[in-house]
Amino acid sequence: MTDAVDAAETPTPRRKPKAPVTTINGREMKPSTLMMGYGYDPALSEGSLKAPIFLTSTFAFENAAAGKRHFEGITGQRPGGAEGLVYSRFNGPNQEILEDRLAIWDGAEDALCFSSGMTAICILMLAYCSAGDVIVHSGPLYAASEGFVAKVLSKFGVTYIDFPAGANREELDAVLEKAKAQAEANGGKVAMIYLESPGNPTNALVDVEAVKAARDAKLDMDCPIAIDNTFLGPLWQRPLDNGADIVCYSLTKYVGGHSDLVAGSVAGAKKWMDPVRALRNTMGGIADPNTAWMLLRSLETVELRMQRAGENAEKVCEFLRGHPKVEGLGYLGFIKDERQQDIYDRHCTGAGSTFSVFIQGGEAECFRFLDALKVAKLAVSLGGTETLASHPASMTHLSVPHARRDQLGITDNLVRISIGIEDPDDLIADFAQALDAV
Ligand SMILES: *Cc1c(COP(=O)(O)O)cnc(C)c1O
Repeated sequence: MTDAVDAAETPTPRRKPKAPVTTINGREMKPSTLMMGYGYDPALSEGSLKAPIFLTSTFAFENAAAGKRHFEGITGQRPGGAEGLVYSRFNGPNQEILEDRLAIWDGAEDALCFSSGMTAICILMLAYCSAGDVIVHSGPLYAASEGFVAKVLSKFGVTYIDFPAGANREELDAVLEKAKAQAEANGGKVAMIYLESPGNPTNALVDVEAVKAARDAKLDMDCPIAIDNTFLGPLWQRPLDNGADIVCYSLTKYVGGHSDLVAGSVAGAKKWMDPVRALRNTMGGIADPNTAWMLLRSLETVELRMQRAGENAEKVCEFLRGHPKVEGLGYLGFIKDERQQDIYDRHCTGAGSTFSVFIQGGEAECFRFLDALKVAKLAVSLGGTETLASHPASMTHLSVPHARRDQLGITDNLVRISIGIEDPDDLIADFAQALDAV
């Protein structure tokens, strides 16, 4: 054997410490601690305490055999991705540190980052679907996700069946039976069960445990259950613990948390990630190094920010609940339905900070309320440090037909609010004066 081949067997020293420290005094460290250093060794970057931003399109191999070995990882001849860095469409140091840290929050073996939440979701679905296949999904989904399934995947012979978020085991069994028959008729398989919980903007929760039980009973185990956890993750819901196989995020929201970047991710066992990574390698769509670096900064405070936002939301909702101009609230802290409460108790550790408020009246009253807000900003999106308010029926869900909107409970008097980390009494004062203007 030549020296070159021997060298290739020893992976190049990388950003990672040789033996990453994840326990202290026999105690597993918590994610909030690991966010400050996991997966990065300053000694490999001139002692820089924080990871530098690696702006490069390509990486030098230490020898030709190492280059070959790394390409075996890229092309999938060696599972689990490349051991070395090759080219920035495939990976980079900032993205790898980010992926290692994202995986920690969900208790996942592996994670992949993307240039947006929608890139993550589209590549995930494309990686698992072939012509004739059926996707089973909960409803409502984020409008662009629903559109990708109904309008884009349909062009390639993929069909779908959806079910309402709160469906019980019997209903789920029936939906999967129907999907199986549809797939057989089309010469395909049920390729994926895709969930979003809570749904936007109704906050209806999906029973992931029941979905898993139904999948195990009715379908092959190679049909993954994926779930968009953007609204409650990573702090208030860990769907992999409830039986989901793949969790996906718009990191633009709570994880990024400052309304200053767009990114996405998927996480799960390596076997589920490998096809997704392979397609990302082909198509591109990985987050850029600067965005990955910003997300590393965001992850250091994600628990702090989400906790504060959650506490603020509870106080604001307590105020709104008793207000005469408020007809009702869609807030996970005040669930009225017994079945939804049962799902919440089994799946969630917090009610989040994004909710719906139903104002007495209709569009005109909502617009007066929105135009009168002084602290809260009038914008779509959620999960940032600042409080945002919007009117789904005339904004995010404007393109949804009226009948479908009614079915989903997206009424003209619904205002969507994402609470930030401001002083809670200032927020309550703002909502009080805006309601006075209605
Ligand atoms: C925002 C959002 C997305 C899309 O994410 P982008 O980062 O905007 O591409 C997907 N799902 C949910 C639930 C979202 O809120």
